[in-house]
Amino acid sequence: MTILVESANPPCATATEVYHDEQLHSPPSRTDITAAEWEQLSVKRATAHRQCAGCPLMVDCLYRAVVEVDVSGFVACTTESDRAFIRRQLGIEIEQAGTTPYGAPRVGGGPVSHEAVMTARSAYPKDTCHQLAERLGCSTSTIKRHLRRAREAKRDETTASGVVGPQVPTIDAVLDCFDQLESSQVA
Ligand code: SF4
Repeated sequence: MTILVESANPPCATATEVYHDEQLHSPPSRTDITAAEWEQLSVKRATAHRQCAGCPLMVDCLYRAVVEVDVSGFVACTTESDRAFIRRQLGIEIEQAGTTPYGAPRVGGGPVSHEAVMTARSAYPKDTCHQLAERLGCSTSTIKRHLRRAREAKRDETTASGVVGPQVPTIDAVLDCFDQLESSQVA
C-alpha cells in the first residue's frame, strides 16, 4: 500500500481521529479487553503505524518526541511506553512540556500531593503519565509536573555531587533503540 503525504500536512494533522483515539493514547493490556476489542485495537495501531512510517517527518518527529519534548499519545510509530523504553536505553530523562493536548486542567477532587504521585510512580513504574493520571484522578499535566519536580531535585543533587550528565543522543542512537522495539519491526 502506498501512502502519499504532503510534507505540510503529515497524517497526524489530517487523520486526527486516528491519533486522538483514547486506546492508542493509553493502550489497555491484553487481559483487560476481549479478543474482538484487541483485534480492533491492533487494526487502529497498525493504521497509525503505517501512516507514521510513511510520513516524511518520521525521523525528526521520533527524535524530538524522545529527546526534546515528552508528548502524549501515539507519535512517530511509538507509544509513550515505547519512548520511555528508548530513553531508558539511552540513559536520558527530559524536561516535560507543561501542557499537552491531553493535559487538561484538573477539575474538582482537590490537589494531588507530590508524595501521592511519587508513590504511584514507584508502584506502577511502567504506567504512562496518562495511566497514572487516571489512577489518581488528576490531569496528565499534573503528573508530569510532579515527575519533573522530582527529576529537577535529583539533578540538583547530581550537580552538587559533581557528576556529569549524559550526552545528548544522536539521531542514529535513537534509531538504534527504536529498532529494538517490537513495534518497529512493522514500521
Ligand atoms: S511521524 Fe510524527 S509528524 Fe508524521 S504522522 Fe506520525 S506523529 Fe505525525
